[in-house]
This record gives sequence, structure tokens and C-alpha cells, in this order.
Amino acid sequence: MTGGMDGQICESENCGKPAKLRCPTCVKLDLKDAYFCEQDCFKANWAKHKAVHVDASQPYNPWPYYNFTGPLRPFPQSSRRAVPEHIPRPDYALHPEGVCLEERHAKSERVVKVLTDEEKEGLKVACKLGRECLDEAAKACAPGVTTDELDRVVHEAAIERECYPSPLGYYKFPKSCCTSVNEVICHGIPDMRKLENGDVCNVDVTVYHRGFHGDLNETFFVGDKVDEESRKLVRVTYECLQEAIKIVRPGVKFREIGNVIQKHANANGFSVVKAYCGHGIHRLFHTAPNIPHYAKNNAVGVMKAGNAFTIEPMINAGIWNDGRWPDDWTAVTVDGKRSAQFEQTLLVTDSGCEVLTARRPSGRPWFMDQLADVYGEQI
Ligand SMILES: [Zn+2]
Ligand SMILES: [Zn+2]
Repeated sequence: MTGGMDGQICESENCGKPAKLRCPTCVKLDLKDAYFCEQDCFKANWAKHKAVHVDASQPYNPWPYYNFTGPLRPFPQSSRRAVPEHIPRPDYALHPEGVCLEERHAKSERVVKVLTDEEKEGLKVACKLGRECLDEAAKACAPGVTTDELDRVVHEAAIERECYPSPLGYYKFPKSCCTSVNEVICHGIPDMRKLENGDVCNVDVTVYHRGFHGDLNETFFVGDKVDEESRKLVRVTYECLQEAIKIVRPGVKFREIGNVIQKHANANGFSVVKAYCGHGIHRLFHTAPNIPHYAKNNAVGVMKAGNAFTIEPMINAGIWNDGRWPDDWTAVTVDGKRSAQFEQTLLVTDSGCEVLTARRPSGRPWFMDQLADVYGEQI
């Protein structure tokens, strides 16, 4: 061997001398590169260099004062993904705090929009593309895969389809989808944690295409070791959504949805999250109506043909109460038990509703395929 270490050169800016040493921390963490010429050069660059020492394979605890409610921990996050300039973005993507001014202006109106034929078409396209992105995530979801990788898959699937991934930058949310694992109820932030065999992982995708948002989510089984109670939780959560969709038609009160969902959840020994609701969706990501998933709620209004909204029940294995990690996003169960969720975007028709984000052609969710593949259709 000639030159420095394996012919490497010093990584300090404008140095270029042959390397004689490697950063010991990098060696320990098995990180690549980090060759330096002399101790002095290494020391001079330490402040800048040490930033690479976050070990992405390990959890880190940025909140020593916080008592986690369950076993899940945050991991480092990758840097923000870029959206090509030519893809149109919603207003909040350009706001420094991610505030959606259009939603704020609409808030004074409680009226639920009746979409025109043109708007229905626009919404349908966004929902179809959102579904395609979620399906890509479903195919990628497996033991050993990080939730950051699922985020990359969703992000790239969205861009390929000329969509802006709606969560990115929405009130400063840092990623392109939400990944909610085990005791996370919703709004989990994709990070470097590898999914483990036996986890359940919800992926929530919203895309913005030609002025419309399409929103859906599903909970997936990770691998073939998901315990029986979690399998039941996922199945019952899906059934709650299906039962709710069945009652959607003109003339039905929005508050009825929660009664149907809670009845089915409670009958199976599960509880319904109260803090997060379904929402109107079209040109705005979140707008009227507000759709609680729990019984005896005070939701306002009656369904009309042309209304578009999501139903997205979050069902807990234990108690209904939610907490939040200090990242101000990750919603968790307070007892650390698992939570599951399914979501569709619906359009009310004259006689019922159309599920705009339905999986095609079968309509059945991914977990049912997984049951058939892994558990032989039985649970
Ligand atoms: Zn939603
Ligand atoms: Zn969603």
C-alpha cells in the first residue's frame, strides 16, 4: 500500500493531504469515510465532523424528563426530502411555520362543501393516486425495514405521480407520510427504527394533486409473528370503518358515525380514541365536517350528496386515552397498549357513498392478504 490509509485523503475542507488516521468514533460506529491527515487537522474539524456521529441504528432519547408510555422509542430522522419545483404545492408548504391560511379562512364557515362535478373528478384522481402510493408502502413494509424507508417509498411514489406529499411541512411535520407503530395512535414520524417481526404499522398517506388532497391509511402486519390480540385489534378496527361506511348516505347525521364505531369496538373489548377525528377534505386537507369516532358526540350537520370527508377510526386494545411525545406529533396510548387505524376518503352520492381511496380491484385491505398468506385466512 502506498499513500495514506488505503490511498484515502484527509476529509478536512481544502486539505487534500494523504490520510494517516481515522476518527475513532466513526470506526466504533462503523461509519464510512472520516479519514484525516494529522491530529491537528482532525481537531480543527471536530465541531463540524462530530455531526455525523449520530448512530442511526440506535434509539436516542432527546427527552430525558419524559416517561414513555410503552416500549417504543424515537430513532434519528433523515434530513428533509425535496419535492421538485415543477410539482404544485399547497399554500402551507411555502409558509415558514407550515400554517395553512386557506384552512384558517374556511374555519369560520361551518358549511360542508357540496362539490361540483369538476371538483368530484379532481378529488377522485387525487384519491386514486394516494391509494397507489399507500400500496407501494404496503409492499415495502417488512421486518428490518425502517419507517424512514417507507417514507422514502411514499415520497418517491408521490413525486412520480406529480403529487406533493401533503403531510410534508404541514404545521412543520417533517416527513411525507405518518408511520404509527404499535402503541402509536397516529401522527408517528418516520425514523431510522427498523420494523420488527410482530409489530403493527399504520401508514397514513395524503397526496396533493392538481389542487385536491386524497387521504387514506391502513394498518399492516410486520412479518408473521403478530400476536393474536393485535390481529384481532386490526381486524376489528377495519370492521369499525366498514360498519361506519355502510351508514353513509344523504340525510344521515355526521354524529351517527361515532355510535356505529364505538358499538362495534366495545363489543370486542376495545376502546375508541376521542382526540383525533375524521375530516372534510377536497381543496383543503382538513376542513368541515368534523367526524368524531366515539359515541354520543356533538358533531354538527347532516350528510348531503356531494360532501367529501374521511372516516378514520383509531381503536385501542386498552383504554381510549391518548398522550403525546414531546415532539408534539406522535400520539400514543397512555397505557402503552397497541392501537390500530384505517382510513378512507368518501364521497356522498344520491344513494350512499363512493369509497374514493378503495384498493383496486379487490377492495380488500392489505392485512387480509397478509392473513391469507401467513395465517391461512384464520384469526
Ligand atoms: Zn385524514
Ligand atoms: Zn390520513
